[in-house]
Amino acid sequence: MRQLLDEAAKGGYGVGAFNVNNMEQIQAIMEAARETKSPVIVQASRGARSYSQDRFLYHLMLAATELYPEIPMVLHQDHGNSPETCKSAIAMGFTSVMMDGSLMPDGKTPSTFEYNVSATREVVEAAHAKGVTVEGEIGCLGGIEDGHGAGVDALSHLTDPDQAVEFVRLTGVDALAIAIGTSHGAYKFSKKPTGDTLKMDRLIEIHRRLPTTHLVMHGSSSVPKDLQDIINQYGGKLKPTWGVPVEEIQLGIKNGVRKINVDTDSRLAITGAIRKVFWEKPEEFDPRSYLKPAREAMKKVVAQRMTQFGQAGHAGDYVPIPLDEVARGYQQHLAA
Ligand SMILES: [Zn+2]
Repeated sequence: MRQLLDEAAKGGYGVGAFNVNNMEQIQAIMEAARETKSPVIVQASRGARSYSQDRFLYHLMLAATELYPEIPMVLHQDHGNSPETCKSAIAMGFTSVMMDGSLMPDGKTPSTFEYNVSATREVVEAAHAKGVTVEGEIGCLGGIEDGHGAGVDALSHLTDPDQAVEFVRLTGVDALAIAIGTSHGAYKFSKKPTGDTLKMDRLIEIHRRLPTTHLVMHGSSSVPKDLQDIINQYGGKLKPTWGVPVEEIQLGIKNGVRKINVDTDSRLAITGAIRKVFWEKPEEFDPRSYLKPAREAMKKVVAQRMTQFGQAGHAGDYVPIPLDEVARGYQQHLAA
């Protein structure tokens, strides 16, 4: 992932990191990547790994690398809750891990700065030895995703720029997730976010202080109204909600954001498409009759984000560097 983010920084674009739990989702992501010629980050949460018994998911990811050889692709552990989780992902073949030491290993309790530094540092040492990239997190996001998250108010644990600088210096992370008022899940904002609820000025300040650290925006689905409407039109009961507007993400990309995590938009697209089939053709019972349109709907929203983030067209810009070569690069950097 380090190479992919370095390339994105050079090209001035962002790369979407899309969550995957099953075959239809990874097919949707890879088809969107092929259609838009995009490098891509495919990520699995701990919840996804247990849902898929780990090995099913890993082999789906391997299949994707076989079937889409022209797409530079990262296999990323989303929100590793402990060094052990990250190390198990590295052992399985993930090329990037997130050590979220902003929370204790229970994935719920906000941790101390000291704990976060020591857990993240441990992962950086293990990961870089294998050429694997590490994303850390400082500050706590709002909401809960796959059981992970403090469930705190999104504004109560914003990232402190001084701490962010210190954290990067002490841990050597490649990428840094920051808390600027976003939340996991569908219910991010109760109205269109403003500067009071989405702190883009803080993001800009952190980038100014850490110009070579790749910033990551979590909880960055846009939760578009048209996808909410499809669900509600066909019997769903979503409450009105707002996500992170694409133009704010684009402002972030101009200011050091290289990885943008999107999950809710994919979920909404899939659920809306399935509801529509069930509503219009209640006699259907072949899962393919609703999973195909679901896959297509997710592909559409993923392709749209790839174009909006600017990664579209960049798949052929570079050849992925083998992990052992990346590992040697980290070693030389340490020695220098
Ligand atoms: Zn997240």
